Amino acid sequence: MKKHEALSIFRQIPSSILFKCTDSSEVYASQYFEKSFGIIDAKAFESRAITFFDQKSKREVAVGENPFFLVETGLQVADYFRLQTSSRTMNCFVEGEFVYTPTCDWVVLHIKTDITGLLDLSKKDSQVNKHITFNQLLTNFSSKLINADVNDLDSIIDQALAAFGTFCDVDRCYLFEFLEGGELMSNTHEWVAAGVTPYIDELQNMPANSLPFFMSHITNGLFKVDDVSTLPESASLEKAVFEEQRIYSILCSRIMVEGTIYGFIGCDIIGAPYSWKAFDIEYLRRIGEMLGNTLQNLHNRKALQKMQIELLEANKQLERLANMDGLTGLANRRLFDATIKDDIVRCKEADLPISLLLIDVDYFKQYNDYYGHVAGDNVLKRVAETLSNSCLGNDDLVARYGGEEFIIILPGTDSDALECIAARVLRNVSQLSIAHQKSKIKDILTVSIGMACFNSGKSTKQNSVENECYNATSFIEDVDSALYRAKNSGRNRTSF
Ligand code: GH3
Ligand code: MG
Ligand code: MG
Repeated sequence: MKKHEALSIFRQIPSSILFKCTDSSEVYASQYFEKSFGIIDAKAFESRAITFFDQKSKREVAVGENPFFLVETGLQVADYFRLQTSSRTMNCFVEGEFVYTPTCDWVVLHIKTDITGLLDLSKKDSQVNKHITFNQLLTNFSSKLINADVNDLDSIIDQALAAFGTFCDVDRCYLFEFLEGGELMSNTHEWVAAGVTPYIDELQNMPANSLPFFMSHITNGLFKVDDVSTLPESASLEKAVFEEQRIYSILCSRIMVEGTIYGFIGCDIIGAPYSWKAFDIEYLRRIGEMLGNTLQNLHNRKALQKMQIELLEANKQLERLANMDGLTGLANRRLFDATIKDDIVRCKEADLPISLLLIDVDYFKQYNDYYGHVAGDNVLKRVAETLSNSCLGNDDLVARYGGEEFIIILPGTDSDALECIAARVLRNVSQLSIAHQKSKIKDILTVSIGMACFNSGKSTKQNSVENECYNATSFIEDVDSALYRAKNSGRNRTSF
């Protein structure tokens, strides 16, 4: 028998085989194989490469693991591969054998594409088995998704698409989300089978109106095309996109979240048309529903989280406002009262001095009467700002104590330093040069300052009991008396 006669016989064998002569690298296929892989132009196919991929890693198998090579070197082959031809890619079970003919030795690979058929069950049983496996898959992912942390969702969705894609033996499986009120759509997750080109990066923010035929179907729930070449004229835009991606069959199912269309889940068959079965549609719908429920759940969780953050933020803001003087932006009396108590305790424990300054604007009633209340308010703001800028200690607290009175807590400041700071405050306010024609002491605005310093570190046995009892009230009384003395001895001055 001549080589071409053997070849012709092999080609007619009524099962899916790939074969090659050991003395050539040319790979041939039986007509049966071509039919199941949707290859129409057999001649073109003969010289075209067949690629074997590892099913799990999706990597092309190395030369040393290629089933043709293994059989040729006398090794047994009975394994799963993902097989890519010029038209499509499918999961296969491959068994190899060596066939001797007088003119040539052949390596023959038996390709079984119906993986469930290998379970040696009757067709009906294998269908039932498929449903059981699918339900297990769905249950597994549902429970994973329900318990998932928000941060793990993307990876679980990826896994779900991969599991579904592998299970239904499609080439690509993806999730799309509609954005901007349905005007745009973006591919958020994608799984591709070995050897299939991913498209996710190119499918971001696509205008929905670029696919009008698709949109009119998917918004009603389902988009199903068995053979892209048979799409009507009204789907010319879709046809062009699908053909560019070599999609022959496509199936998409809408996903609803909170009563509106969230997006869709879909899958593609590359290279050869496929008639979608009722169970394919059912499976895709159910995966879509599962993802919809998850996304709804996520939506609710995110909304709750957002509300909690807003509430926390509002509380913080409230706290800030509750402690702030509305006119000057300084700390208010409330915050002062809380702080002074803590600071006294803290300084006593650390044996540190603590000081207070009480600042009162001189003849402010007259200022208001002459210049008006609004001008008076502005003066208070400017004085407040000057006080803040005059005290640079990290722990200092400048507060508005009352109408035109301000108070400053200076933890760790002793009486010498206090005198310097008070003199600086006095000078800085004068240097604002705010005209005050009705002041009885000067033609500009001045302040009087009371000073008080408490130094527990200097306590002796005799005054230690006194020190124990010294508190915020006594401290404020002291500084108030000091202010009184400054006022009485002529104003525009500081006094202990
Ligand atoms: P002295 O030199 O003795 O301190 O005289 P004084 O006029 O400053 O003191 P007095 O206590 O008699 O008057 C304080 C004035 O401060 C009365 C009030 O009109 C004014 N004042 C208090 N709070 C505010 C405020 O928020 N805005 C304005 N514009 N004026 C205020
Ligand atoms: Mg006053
Ligand atoms: Mg005053």
